[in-house]
Amino acid sequence: MIFTILTLFPNLFSSPLQESIIKRAVEKGLIEFNILNIRDFAVDIHRTCDDSPYGGGPGMVMKIEPISRTMEYVEHSAGRRPKFVLLTPQGRLFDQGTAERLARNPHLCLICGRYEGVDERVLTLVDEEISIGDYVLSGGEVPALVLIDAISRHVPGVLGNEQSSIDESFKEHLLEYPQYTRPDVFEDMEVPSVLLSGNHEEIRRWRRREAIKKTILKRPDLMERFVPAREDQGIIKKVMEELSE
Ligand code: SAM
Repeated sequence: MIFTILTLFPNLFSSPLQESIIKRAVEKGLIEFNILNIRDFAVDIHRTCDDSPYGGGPGMVMKIEPISRTMEYVEHSAGRRPKFVLLTPQGRLFDQGTAERLARNPHLCLICGRYEGVDERVLTLVDEEISIGDYVLSGGEVPALVLIDAISRHVPGVLGNEQSSIDESFKEHLLEYPQYTRPDVFEDMEVPSVLLSGNHEEIRRWRRREAIKKTILKRPDLMERFVPAREDQGIIKKVMEELSE
């Protein structure tokens, strides 16, 4: 999968894309990054990429021409149109389902805004607008890294153990079950004995129950979208009884 990033601050990407899972995925040829400086595509000799807003007001707005020219270059050099995604706090909220869906694209082009954002006409050039949360950051670079990290986990081969992404939180709209590792006792806190039992079916059922319990306690909003299997209905009833005691 190819990620092309359009930014005014390419250096922000150097270290985060050269560590850990992403680094290994690049080395294995599973993902590839092209980072383009929008300023290189500015049309005037001063390489201007921003200007004051029409109608007045504070700050600067990113101009459409350099962005449009960079997008044309990306499409032309790739030989086909990638999916163009604009990072913006006004976009659709990013979630695990979106990460999975976007991972099916062979080529994603992420456009990072800065200043007061981009000229509104840029919206007509892109395929999607995505926000990573209801808060305003200074630029689209951190959101782009959030997307890259979450999406890459769904690219086959990127995670060493494919099961890791199958059980993770938000799959089926449930949080993941609690995880423990050695030691089995820390101060007075013990690892649940079922996890040391070696009984795989009991462990599976315990994890399912704990995932449901955790979700009810921490993120009851997710339960509205969770479709319980027959086994889960009994678990939900029991958990609700336990919680009301
Ligand atoms: N004036 C804009 C507004 O109120 O909607 C905010 C501009 S913000 C300071 C600059 C850039 O940061 C945006 O163009 C966008 O690319 C990025 N950005 C900021 N917050 C974001 C978020 N929550 N999700 C995605 N991108 C964000």
